[in-house]
Amino acid sequence: MVVVGGSVAGLLTAHVLAGHAERVTVLERDQYEDTPGPRAGVPQSRHTHVLLTSGMNALEELLPGLLPALEDAGAPRLAVPGDLGVWQAGQWISRRNPSRPIMTPSRPLLEHHVRRRVLDDPRVHVRTGVEVTGLLGRPGHITGVAVRTRGGDHPARQEIEADLVVDASGRASRTPAWLADLGAPAPAEELVETGRAYATCVFHADHPPEDLDGFYIVPDAGQPLGAIVLPVEGDRWMVTLSGPRGEAPPGDAEGFVEFAGRLPHSAPHKWLRSARPVGRPAGYRHTANRRRRYDRPGQHNTGLLVVGDAACALNPVYGQGLSVAALNAVALREELAGKRAVPSRTLQRAVFRSARRAWDVATGADSPMPGVTGNAVRSGPAARLLTRYLDRVRAHVPHDPVVCGTQRDVLFLLAPPRTLVTSPRVLRRALLSPAGPDRSAPPTP
Ligand SMILES: Cc1cc2nc3c(=O)[nH]c(=O)nc-3n(C[C@H](O)[C@H](O)[C@H](O)COP(=O)(O)OP(=O)(O)OC[C@H]3O[C@@H](n4cnc5c(N)ncnc54)[C@H](O)[C@@H]3O)c2cc1C
Repeated sequence: MVVVGGSVAGLLTAHVLAGHAERVTVLERDQYEDTPGPRAGVPQSRHTHVLLTSGMNALEELLPGLLPALEDAGAPRLAVPGDLGVWQAGQWISRRNPSRPIMTPSRPLLEHHVRRRVLDDPRVHVRTGVEVTGLLGRPGHITGVAVRTRGGDHPARQEIEADLVVDASGRASRTPAWLADLGAPAPAEELVETGRAYATCVFHADHPPEDLDGFYIVPDAGQPLGAIVLPVEGDRWMVTLSGPRGEAPPGDAEGFVEFAGRLPHSAPHKWLRSARPVGRPAGYRHTANRRRRYDRPGQHNTGLLVVGDAACALNPVYGQGLSVAALNAVALREELAGKRAVPSRTLQRAVFRSARRAWDVATGADSPMPGVTGNAVRSGPAARLLTRYLDRVRAHVPHDPVVCGTQRDVLFLLAPPRTLVTSPRVLRRALLSPAGPDRSAPPTP
């Protein structure tokens, strides 16, 4: 078996497949460093990465002991909303509402620990500096990959045969084009794109913001600017700002801090002005929600499995991608358990199902955003009615522990989004209770 891409999704998939194969070979175009650090093949590694409760649970199930090891390496563990200033729908969420944990290791630290654990397994081999350039086989049936070795004056070309090829090459996956090269149809693609642009800058600070461990300013259709201020290992703060199409945060530290002055509350800006930037902000613009339907009948090729961002890439503002990669791997493990062989189509469907909650959350939240485009944008009278109801839900989140806890479990991928519509307790409170008291001052513990 070969896995294309040795990042989080590829490594976790290799770990699961290793229990069912003599050998799994991970092909990664980058070289790995011995210590955690950003790398070219993962441009998002300079940006804030939140690990949601669902992702923590899935990682602990796949690699027991990983989370304590991350904590030992300095990765913060926070309670949400207990430790954070979360601004949503024009108010701060009460910190007394029930909390769930998240972790905030830097992306390179997380990947470094996952990699060490997965590559400890003698059945998992990795070849770095190897770029996959195409698929082998015929329409409907994939039998291997074509690769070229990077570096040196004469890149070597090679073909590698495999009974299963896993594409974990991320958001920029070339599998649709490689299938076209073989004469096979590309998978149908679903798209919801808001044009949101990101910038992240690391800061040092003498004191935390207020008495909080960070801020999360949630963008919505009426207030399109977002901010995430979170601690990471090494006594640093990672600050991500985001704006809608045409309002990208600036790429210089001074402009970045100034941009924070436009957020709907002054607290993050006030704190940022007292902190010291480390280097320049890094920008990022490829934030579309894009799902490729390899699971559909007629669109599947035996011998091929697509996971992680290559199958379903999400707007990063909801912080779900790592958790989805881990949930994909758990779903594969459950599907393979106790069986000698499972058709790749069945595995692809399991991957699809395990990412569905995240897709519904991200595209549901992005569909009402101004300027949204794409063939999977939810529109029409039913979608508008749902948006109006969800606006009422969000208005109750800051002060209502039941509504807040239910919405948080949906956002953290612990409950299906439909819970917000089917739970009688949430329905009753959202539709019949008056909105709570004003919460415009940063929340106290
Ligand atoms: C700005 C930003 C912020 C984000 N924030 C969060 C967050 O807060 N929380 C969260 O959970 N998720 C977040 N994500 C999503 C998260 O980064 C991804 O979902 C996660 O990294 C899993 O991705 P992956 O392993 O599928 O792909 P990637 O991590 O993108 O890795 C793809 C790998 O494939 C390799 N590769 C690519 N092509 C080839 C080839 N042809 N041959 C060989 N190797 C190849 C690359 O070098 C790379 O190592 C964010 C994403 C972005 C863009």
